[in-house]
Amino acid sequence: MDKKYIVDGYYPTIGVECHVQLKTATKLFAGVGNDARDAAPNTLISPLCIGLPGTLPVLNEAVIPLSIKAGLALKAKIAKISHFDRKHYFYPDLPLGYQITQYERPIIFDGTVEALLPNKESVHVRIERAHLEADAGKSNHPEGADYSLVDLNRAGTPLLEIVSGPDMHNAQEVKAYVYELYLLMKYADVSDVDLYHGNMRFDVNVSVSKDPNKLGTRSETKNLNSFRSVEKTVDYEIKRQIELLKKSKPIVQETRGWDDAKQKTFSQRTKEDAHDYRYFPDPDIPPITITDEEVAIIAKDMPILPSALRDHFIELGLDDASVATLVDDPNLAAIVRYVQEGHDKKTAHTIANWCLGELTRRVNDNEISWQEVANVIPYLVELASMVDEAKVSSTAAKELLINCVKHNKDPLALAKELDLLQVSDESELVLIVEQVLSQQPKAVNDVKNGELKVIGFLVGQVMKASKGKANPETVQMLIKSQLGV
Ligand code: MN
Repeated sequence: MDKKYIVDGYYPTIGVECHVQLKTATKLFAGVGNDARDAAPNTLISPLCIGLPGTLPVLNEAVIPLSIKAGLALKAKIAKISHFDRKHYFYPDLPLGYQITQYERPIIFDGTVEALLPNKESVHVRIERAHLEADAGKSNHPEGADYSLVDLNRAGTPLLEIVSGPDMHNAQEVKAYVYELYLLMKYADVSDVDLYHGNMRFDVNVSVSKDPNKLGTRSETKNLNSFRSVEKTVDYEIKRQIELLKKSKPIVQETRGWDDAKQKTFSQRTKEDAHDYRYFPDPDIPPITITDEEVAIIAKDMPILPSALRDHFIELGLDDASVATLVDDPNLAAIVRYVQEGHDKKTAHTIANWCLGELTRRVNDNEISWQEVANVIPYLVELASMVDEAKVSSTAAKELLINCVKHNKDPLALAKELDLLQVSDESELVLIVEQVLSQQPKAVNDVKNGELKVIGFLVGQVMKASKGKANPETVQMLIKSQLGV
């Protein structure tokens, strides 16, 4: 028990369940489309999704390699045998009358996630299990209407429910964990991880206790789909529960929701215990078997994961925020990592900065894509060395950068074409300097009278006259020598 977690004499404990929507083309047990984002209600349904008698589920085997990848990303064990159970409950959006899920033998168990905290420490979260299950449909309650609408497009969508241990003790740790989980699923490439569309939904279990060795009664706040609402829920629940206990009022074991407008949680229903669900093995679906060979084949192709990437990018000398931005986008991270692996630190650092600045801006404006950037990596390397050798100014480099990505063209050829090579011929530059000095008698006088900061102005004039092609340091040197200061 760590004293730093204690709030008002109470020790909070938090565990998280996360439903991740797997990115298969079709549903878990039926051959209908899975992406309901743009579909009209009840158009992605099969007889099974609406629970018609006589329909039989057939496992979509595409979920197996996706589960293995997720399990590897969670540093977990992959079950050699797992099977599906029926979890019985009645709800209008569940026409089968039961959810097909894995209860006794989940496909993934015993994993860990190391989540990075803002103070650079990390929180170690155990993954107890992750099981496959079919999603339910969706009930809509139109405002003011005396009826509800049911949309079964989502019924039967494959979910991986990842269950953490009760290993977090404040909102910051929970936020770090859910974000790391999001990154892991994104890098493992098992889900579209579109939080807005509910591709990842978090259920947050919070309890507080005077005795750190004993868990208090918990509340479960369900279906949070933003990192921020997860963080707010944890803070709110810790406070709410402590206030109740201080007044000697009991905490009810219940399911709650988060009201984003009111920034508070509210009671939805008292929580069922497992025995209420009458779980039993689904007799229609054979167990899933996975061999070591299957796991080994997938393990060989696993991408580098966020924590290892972070270590690499820190070696480049980037600051924490830049490292975090790179790691947040696997496409961006892959480009920088590729450059880093094949080139010196300075080149990689320059290209990382271009990626984080100018290129991110253009990608966000839909002017270019990361794929187009990835296609011209050798040109970016060439451009970095042109800057290094002062062949082009840093301003000109930005223009070349964007052009070489857009047109897939060699930066040296482009620089010639666009007349952006720095004037390296000093005699030409001397002429420009002389001309500018003759046009600026007042500034020249000021400098001669000791106002050295005016030199900056003259450098600017020369740069302008050279159309940005002069090297500013050389220009300054020439002005100083001409004016004898
Ligand atoms: Mn579930």
